[in-house]
Amino acid sequence: MIETDIAIVGGGIAGLWLQTVISDAGYSSIVIEKDGLGAGQTLASQGMIHGGLKYSLQGTRSGASEAIADMPGVWRECLAGAKRPDLHQVKLLADRYFLFSDSALSGRLTAYLGAHAIMGGTRRLSPPDFPPPFDNNVFRGMLYELPDAVLDTVSLVTSLAEAQQGRLICGTPTIIRSARGIRELELDTTSVRAQCYILAAGQGNEALIREGQFEVAMQTRPLHQVMVKGRLPRLYAHGVSLKSLDKPRLTITSHPCDDGDIVWYLGGELAESGVHLSEPEQIVHAQSELDAMLPFIDLSGCQWATLRVDRAEHYQPHGRRPDEPYCERQDNVVFCWPTKLTLVPMLANRVLALIREQPEFDQPATDGLEPPRLARPPWSVAFK
Ligand SMILES: Cc1cc2nc3c(=O)[nH]c(=O)nc-3n(C[C@H](O)[C@H](O)[C@H](O)COP(=O)(O)OP(=O)(O)OC[C@H]3O[C@@H](n4cnc5c(N)ncnc54)[C@H](O)[C@@H]3O)c2cc1C
Repeated sequence: MIETDIAIVGGGIAGLWLQTVISDAGYSSIVIEKDGLGAGQTLASQGMIHGGLKYSLQGTRSGASEAIADMPGVWRECLAGAKRPDLHQVKLLADRYFLFSDSALSGRLTAYLGAHAIMGGTRRLSPPDFPPPFDNNVFRGMLYELPDAVLDTVSLVTSLAEAQQGRLICGTPTIIRSARGIRELELDTTSVRAQCYILAAGQGNEALIREGQFEVAMQTRPLHQVMVKGRLPRLYAHGVSLKSLDKPRLTITSHPCDDGDIVWYLGGELAESGVHLSEPEQIVHAQSELDAMLPFIDLSGCQWATLRVDRAEHYQPHGRRPDEPYCERQDNVVFCWPTKLTLVPMLANRVLALIREQPEFDQPATDGLEPPRLARPPWSVAFK
């Protein structure tokens, strides 16, 4: 039996970040991961640290954009090693990304982006300053530079996990209830007893909530992402157009492969509207979206694949997107969903406030128990 102050179920960004914050606050803890660290949403995410502009494309500052506005600054300090968790070893894929439009975009967006250019460090670029691949005669849209980072999520998960070695175990826990919350978690070869249990298992929270007969509602929003592999330029960008003003029509991040190729990982509206399409249909859909938004990119000879993955969030009426991270405590159990990678620092502060009263324990002994391996990002699984 492992005894600890806090047992965290789920080794994604939420569980791993929470463990650092909890350890810093003097609590002993253990993370239990059933698959690979970062499996689920974290390694499947696009790693963009949003500053809120993406949420404001309708032209008004939404709750989401207000909540998210401080987050890039917090991440920047962590990435510089000036704030905990120390993320100075995390690789940046890009320290800025672009927002581009097709040539037909309305004045509404132009006016909005113009106003926020001064506030958020967002900068409108003029044609002589267009970087590749926009520096050509075919591109006739607008181009903005956003000062927010794109993270290499594999190095993010690795960095957080390395700092917690000996406190991560592999397993699928069974919940043993008590009259007030959870008594313990049963694993194949041991069990874990804690003062407080944090369910940070993303979509896996659904089964845990059902199994423990708790009353917390969550929702999933399915996505059908697309991957394109080839000799592509590195591009980190949201493409917007009249067709989808409330969210990017296309979000592109680039992921280098060992063979020198780049994988473009495509999300945004493309991934939401493509959930009912088969894999071949979604690839055709992506090809036509790229052709409409980036007709100057040569995609001949590229390999294509898709990934179905769900966003897991706290329930919102009518399937709306939550604005903020969510956590709730019932007896000795905390349920949480960060909503976005970007919002994990905010989630961690809120969870810490919920568990503040817990007494300290010694670090649990995990000798002889198998630690979880690191999961693989989708582009390294899709193109073997
Ligand atoms: C396609 C996509 C793109 C995204 N892009 C961005 C982006 O660019 N920027 C941004 O800010 N956010 C983005 N997000 C959102 C972000 O990825 C998530 O909010 C975040 O990763 C959620 O982290 P998590 O740790 O809560 O969940 P997850 O990453 O899903 O981790 C949950 C972990 O729990 C484990 N688990 C599940 N059940 C159990 C169980 N019973 N026992 C033990 N372990 C269990 C899983 O194996 C998994 O490792 C994106 C999401 C998706 C799906």
